[in-house]
Amino acid sequence: MYYISTRGDAQHSSRKTFTEILLGGLAPDGGLYLPEFYPQITHTELDHWRGLANASYADLAFAVLSKFIDDIPAADLKALIDKTYTAEVYCNGRAGDQASDITPVRWLEPGLGLLELSNGPTLAFKDMAMQLLGNLFEYVLAKKGEEINILGATSGDTGSAAEYAMRGKHGLRVFMLSPYGRMSAFQRAQMYSLQDANIYNIAVRGMFDDAQDIVKAVSNDHAFKARHKIGAVNSINWARVAAQVVYYFKGFFAATRSNDEQVDFVVPSGNFGNICAGHIARMMGLPIGRLVMATNENDVLDEFFRTGVYRPRGAAETCTTSSPSMDISKASNFERFAFDLVGRDPAIIRELWAKVDAGGSFDLSKTPCFADLPKFGFVSGKSCHAERLATIRQTFEKYGVMVDTHTADGLKVGMAARTTGRPMLVLETALPAKFEEAIVEALGRKPERPTAMLGIENLPQRVEVMDVSVDAVKQFIALNAGA
Ligand SMILES: *Cc1c(COP(=O)(O)O)cnc(C)c1O
Repeated sequence: MYYISTRGDAQHSSRKTFTEILLGGLAPDGGLYLPEFYPQITHTELDHWRGLANASYADLAFAVLSKFIDDIPAADLKALIDKTYTAEVYCNGRAGDQASDITPVRWLEPGLGLLELSNGPTLAFKDMAMQLLGNLFEYVLAKKGEEINILGATSGDTGSAAEYAMRGKHGLRVFMLSPYGRMSAFQRAQMYSLQDANIYNIAVRGMFDDAQDIVKAVSNDHAFKARHKIGAVNSINWARVAAQVVYYFKGFFAATRSNDEQVDFVVPSGNFGNICAGHIARMMGLPIGRLVMATNENDVLDEFFRTGVYRPRGAAETCTTSSPSMDISKASNFERFAFDLVGRDPAIIRELWAKVDAGGSFDLSKTPCFADLPKFGFVSGKSCHAERLATIRQTFEKYGVMVDTHTADGLKVGMAARTTGRPMLVLETALPAKFEEAIVEALGRKPERPTAMLGIENLPQRVEVMDVSVDAVKQFIALNAGA
């Protein structure tokens, strides 16, 4: 299996293998990597995978990921996947809840279920891919005899998922910038209480955008970046998307008895990474009826699917909402879907993203490819603060189930798009315990916390507080990044 860039040519010279693109981010031409073709799954294979899915998530993950990873020996890949997706290890966050399945379906009523993706250590779906990434990184770095220093900025979820995935791993360190005093006490405790020597938390006296700007400035200093082997684990990383393909298969098998049935999936979306994995599963031949994409007030993606206009917003136009992990106005993974939509023509993507990268927009409404959009099964919708709180209340009253604000956006949009005759699975992307304030606003009571997380605010914290200064951050990295 070879990988190509959405903006490159498909000539032999630019093709890369999985481990060649694992540690990097963007392709050198600024595009995103995608497999040269999507492996096609036969019905016989689907039947076999249904059996695997019933037995263990890890076995299914190995079958799916082997289609995309062929340059790690099978026995090694199997061991890495087994190590990642063992319920006792993976579901540590819900320890005591007897989690025996990595991604169970919780049926709200016949035909409507939640695909639970937040049983991982940080209680959000990003763990699903990030936990595997940590093990893959460690393995490949050891093989190559290399080290890496991962630099990132976070406003909450991504940073903690990355830190919990990379903690204690050999050959890598994590330097994670966060806005000082702007995360919830729970989020701070999740990140800052990690005592692992390879995890460095840096709180900058500024906003999330200031932290992000520092990361960009450091990454643009190519000499510094090369000297200190700076890397990233952002959402455009191909391995993260690939790891997410697995649970669409898992959900499909849980909701059907035969491969002649279809399932609709509803995905609370921000950077388009989660739903992009669903798109890929569908392209592989998984019988997905529709992919329902839900956004919050930041509706750049919903606007595209309705009108054909993709108009990323600037930071000033991005609003802070009660589903903050979807507060994104430039959906980095969207380029992957657009590549398929325009018939995999990199020249068109180069032209469209020249506009996007210059701060502009593009309009496909009058092109044949926009007319093709229904072929890809997408439906979209948005949800606002009042709607998500109402959905949290209704779901609790009707089913006795507490959902978080992001999952509520999905439920709201999914219910409106529901058709009879096909089961619908809403992807649960975080546990309510992560967003206590909004739950209290909706229900007048606090969500339950997994036992492993009780009282984490009282643990000692390890964090370096700094002014908004690129030089200070560089100095800190240089001092701690090893030789
Ligand atoms: C990251 C995140 C999302 C959005 O996922 P994308 O892959 O960026 O579309 C939704 N919900 C939660 C809780 C998240 O952490």
